[in-house]
Amino acid sequence: MPLEQPLSERSLRVCVFCGSSDGDRPAYRELAAAVGRLLVEREAGVVYGGGGLGCMGALADAALAAGGTVVGVIPEALAAREAAHRGLTALHVVGSMHERKALMAAQSDAFLALPGGFGTLEELFEVVTWRQLGYHDKPIAVVNLDGYYDALLDFCDRARDAEFVKPGDRASLHAGGDPVATIDALLARVASRA
Ligand code: AMP
Repeated sequence: MPLEQPLSERSLRVCVFCGSSDGDRPAYRELAAAVGRLLVEREAGVVYGGGGLGCMGALADAALAAGGTVVGVIPEALAAREAAHRGLTALHVVGSMHERKALMAAQSDAFLALPGGFGTLEELFEVVTWRQLGYHDKPIAVVNLDGYYDALLDFCDRARDAEFVKPGDRASLHAGGDPVATIDALLARVASRA
């Protein structure tokens, strides 16, 4: 999967951030699996953290079962703890968390966050801040299932209203409750940059 290949000559890839656990309701795992299938239907490859557990594992299993391409990137030190998925199209075992995030970002055309914990939040806000700093201009979206991220999104509005975040940077973080509409809007933004 060469990084330099232009988007016009390959299928696009979406980096998905989500929980390494299941959350307290089956709906989170079901969402991750539905997103995996949906990305395959839209002919998009999946890039993710490479784990086999929780919502991350559900995402990968569903995308693979639907015949999709799933690339995982996991630090060696976490391969056991996060049960590195051994059935992926490709699994990159890297030396550090920094390498993981850099490789996930470099291989992807867009970023999508689903419900998750601190790891998911860190990954999401890193790509938001990299975009704010001009390191990339790839689109970013959040699936706000059943309002899971309402408080976080309200806080982002507050940070904008307090003039710590520029309106354009706040607007770069798209969110929607419906996974199909959110993903289709994200893919449309990728297409409009290509
Ligand atoms: P969580 O949302 O906490 O379940 O974590 C989801 C994924 O984020 C897991 O694969 C974690 O290894 C990963 N993660 C945890 N901390 C970080 C971090 N600082 N940067 C990037 N990914 C992280």
